[in-house]
Amino acid sequence: MKDDVLIIKYNQETDMPNICFLKGDTKSLLIDCGGGPKMAKCIKNKIIIDPDYILLTHYHWDHSFGAPYYKSNVLSSAFTYNKLKEHKDICINNIDDIISDNLEPLFCKPHLELEYDNIKELNIKLPDEIIESKTLDLGNRIIDIYSVVSPHTEGSLIAYDRNSKYLFIGDADCGYIKGIDFYNDSLKLYKFLNFIINIPFKYIVKGHDDIKTREEYFKEFNNL
Ligand SMILES: [Zn+2]
Repeated sequence: MKDDVLIIKYNQETDMPNICFLKGDTKSLLIDCGGGPKMAKCIKNKIIIDPDYILLTHYHWDHSFGAPYYKSNVLSSAFTYNKLKEHKDICINNIDDIISDNLEPLFCKPHLELEYDNIKELNIKLPDEIIESKTLDLGNRIIDIYSVVSPHTEGSLIAYDRNSKYLFIGDADCGYIKGIDFYNDSLKLYKFLNFIINIPFKYIVKGHDDIKTREEYFKEFNNL
């Protein structure tokens, strides 16, 4: 049974999220793809091949802007597709052109400046396929993709690898960002937790945190 999970670890300085690579007998999947040329180079050095699929957990730049650097079939929610289209329709001459709470909040600006020596290099790739919940067969390795309610943003997708029992949630349990601050939405968080509690995962991978066991993860929410 194929159950290796390759995780390219998050980096707080650059804001690269955890990038996860799963390989089955016939196909491979990358969960999120980094935010630009430097992150993509770091990721491609580790995974060697272009994955067959890239799943975008949500539209934020650090998870999605790296897509043009891979020859992969990119999957996203309709909301993510539309958000990326909104970015693409803007004539981007400097980073401030995409800084807004509606696109990339101010929190992202210093990280975008680190990733792009010249923001005119930014070439947003629109996803190839819009999905909601879906089962992806990588060859003796089934990945369940779920569309979830998330306090972070609409259109969030999470992925569960039945073989390794890893659950990949991107930033889905984080608050939403306005300016440089994160805000919680306890009702949406409750709905999210109530959904994932029914998935038999043993380990959970968030976008910007260390891997946790199921027990460690739910313990954090005991006092909510
Ligand atoms: Zn995010």
